[in-house]
Parts: sequence; structure tokens; C-alpha cells
Amino acid sequence: MTRDTIFALSSGHGRAGVAVIRISGGMARTVLERMAPPLPKPRFAAFRHVRHALTGERLDQALVLWLPGPNSETGEDMAELHVHGSRAVIQDTLASLGGIDGCRLAAPGEFARRAFEAGKLDLTGVEGLADLIEAETSAQRRQALQQAEGALRHLYDGWRQQLTAAAALLAAAIDFSDESDVGSDAARRARDEVEALQRTIRSHLDDGHRGEIVRQGFQVVLAGPPNAGKSSLLNALARRDAAIVSDEPGTTRDVIEVKLDIGGLPVVVSDTAGIREVTGKVEQEGIRRTLGRAKEADLVLWVTDGAAPAVAPPAMLSECADRVLMVVNKVDLLGSRPPRPLPAGAAAVSALTGSGLDALTRSIGSIAAARTGGAEAPPLTQARHRQHLESCCAALDSFLSSPLDDIELRAEDLRRAALALGRLTGSIDVEEVLGEIFSRFCIGK
Ligand code: GDP
Repeated sequence: MTRDTIFALSSGHGRAGVAVIRISGGMARTVLERMAPPLPKPRFAAFRHVRHALTGERLDQALVLWLPGPNSETGEDMAELHVHGSRAVIQDTLASLGGIDGCRLAAPGEFARRAFEAGKLDLTGVEGLADLIEAETSAQRRQALQQAEGALRHLYDGWRQQLTAAAALLAAAIDFSDESDVGSDAARRARDEVEALQRTIRSHLDDGHRGEIVRQGFQVVLAGPPNAGKSSLLNALARRDAAIVSDEPGTTRDVIEVKLDIGGLPVVVSDTAGIREVTGKVEQEGIRRTLGRAKEADLVLWVTDGAAPAVAPPAMLSECADRVLMVVNKVDLLGSRPPRPLPAGAAAVSALTGSGLDALTRSIGSIAAARTGGAEAPPLTQARHRQHLESCCAALDSFLSSPLDDIELRAEDLRRAALALGRLTGSIDVEEVLGEIFSRFCIGK
């Protein structure tokens, strides 16, 4: 069965100098021959007049690329039209493409899906590509690029091969069970290798969530007594160069958030304003929720009013004392001689005048960098990865904690462990997650 040829605007929407329209599938060559003849040399840009496929009307002049499969992103024949980025040029070019038999507009993520199906990308690579398109800071870009280029695939495929090798040793142990020396030696070696592999996987899992933090942002929560200036501080941070203003229409939040880019790391600062407004009896519940949020945060800024009597953080927060940074606000009211010394390590700021905010931002940045930096190996970046790696480890636990005598059962443990890694990279059993992963893309990716 031949598949439809798909096309889409792959560059952003709205007026622009250039717009890129991509085409993938068996008709890509015919499309170019009809709309922008003659066919350019493969993988070289050529300047062409673009014509309407049915009426022959000249639509634009464009750079055109012919990217024959299988050495293309989707593995299929592909073409690109780099037309002028006006609404009319884009609309008429897409209308012309839609009028060609066998061509249709791509669904969201359909190019990436075809690349996955052609084996050009594994699932972690697809996720990396989606993250690269969403990346807002340099650290996110670096991590996503590494993943899109196959760093995690390489790691997980390597582990799967080690499991296959251990399974082969077990098979040898069965084959040579008559010669007990050879057999038990092979079984022992299998056990040693599985033990070493499990240690490697555990240390990959036990990474302080650094990949997930880079992907989702280092979460900072503002907490402190009423009127200490938390909202003012959040507003002051939002007006700074580091603030990333990204409008996401339709999202409702019970907290107010500011996204910052501190030295390339994404940092999300949130004020628990929605919760704070409750009074009276409900206040207890409000405080409980605020503290609950604070406990989940990567860092809590305990904000107090420098001109008011000191307020220590509640006992509940002292459980995560290593994740609390004291901030004394309103230092503009203190004059040159503060009434009392600031707590050690506290940041002295004024949300009103902006004094001390640079140093506070730097402190947050270095705490976030310490939490996310260090290791060279590519980190896992999503809960999905964690879940499959945990089930891989559980199967290896069963292998290691049971007697090796029952070799058939132990071989089954190894098969289950390998299956978990296969699900992770998408080489097995993935139909149910595909829809979810590809729908994260926009049309044209
Ligand atoms: P929140 O309840 O902790 O969110 O506090 P707000 O941000 O609503 O601030 C409480 C009051 O303190 C407001 O009247 C602010 O204008 C004032 N305020 C906040 N930050 C400063 C500051 O740095 N200096 C001075 N002088 N006043 C401040």
C-alpha cells in the first residue's frame, strides 16, 4: 500500500521573510517537477519559479531542495520549498499542493513519526527533537540536542546488548550443565555482569533528577509572612532581562509564575498568591498547601520584611533546610545601619528599588547549576524513562536475588529487563505511547 505524500508549513506562522514548506512521500519528486521544474540536483539548493500545479500561475520565486530517500529525515523522498513568508504565498502554495492527487496536509508530528518508523530516530530521539523545538534556554537546547542525536538511545541500546550477552552466558550454562565447571563458571560470569549493569542503571536513575530539572525548570517557591513583599519580588524578577515571557493562552494556574533564564538554566519562580488570599478558618488549609508546594520545590525563598520583627521559617520547612534560602526584603527602609544583623547567608534585597536582585539571581543560578551540572553522561529527562528503567531494575533484582539453579526462570528475568529497555527506545510494544508522544509536536514537525 502506498502512503499519502504529506506536506506542511514547517516554519512558524505569521508574516516572515522566508517560510519553509516540507513535502515527504512518493509524490515529492512529481510535486517538484510540476511546481518548480526542473528537478534540482539532490541536496543542493536551487533557485526556481514556483507555479500552481493545476493552473500554472506563477506563485513565487523560491529556493528549492530535492532530498531523495532513503537518506532523508523521514527516509522517504522529500522536498522543501523556501518561499517568501507572506500569508498569501503560503496559502496559495499549500492550496496547490493540496490539489495534487495523493498529497495531503500532514498531521501534527507526522514527519517525526515517519522518521521513527523508518528507524531514523528512536523514541528517546523523537522526545529529544520535541524538546529541542520547545527549548527556551541554552541548557535545555544542549540537553535536547544531545538526546535528539541519540545519546540516550546509544546508552540504552548498549545496556540491552549487555543483557543479551548475559543471556548468552546463561544459555551456555544450560548447554554445558553436564560439565559442571564450565556451566557454573558461565552462570557466575552472567551474574557478575548483570550485577555491574544494575549498578550502572541505578546510578543513572539516582542522578538527583538533573535531566528532568533542566527539561521542566528548576522550581523556586516564594514563601514567607504576609506583606513581606513576595508578590513585589516576583514582579521585580519578571521585569528583569532574565525573564522569559512566554504566553500560553488557556492555561489557568492557582499560582503566579515567572520563568527566568539564569545562565542558560530554566528557573521557574512561583508565588503562592492565589493561596495567600484566603483568610480566617480557611487560612490553615492555605498555609498547609503553600508549605506542601514549598516542600516539593527545588528551592524555597523564605522572604521576610527587614523592617518588621524577624519571622523564622516554620518547622515544616526546616525538614528541607538545605533547600531554603533566606531573603530579607525592604532593605531600602533600613537606612545605613540595619536594626539587627542579617541571618548568615541571607540575601538582602529591595523589591522596590531593585537593590540586591542581581546577587539574588546569581545565588539562585549557582544553586540550580550545582543541582543540574557535574556528570558527563547524558541524563534521563522524563518520568517515562524512569518508569521503564525502574522495571528493568526490578527484573534484574529478581535475577540477582534468586538462586541461579533455575536457569529458565533467570533467563526470563533477563528477557523482562531487556523488554523494559526496548519499550524505552521504542523498539517493542509502543503503539499506545506513540499517539501521546507525537501529538506534542505541532504540524510540520
Ligand atoms: P506579599 O504579601 O508578601 O506578597 O507582599 P506584597 O508584595 O504584597 O507587599 C506588601 C507591601 O510591602 C506592599 O505595600 C509593597 O508595596 C511593600 N513592599 C514590597 N517590597 C518592598 C520593598 O522592597 N521596599 C518597600 N519599602 N516596600 C515594599
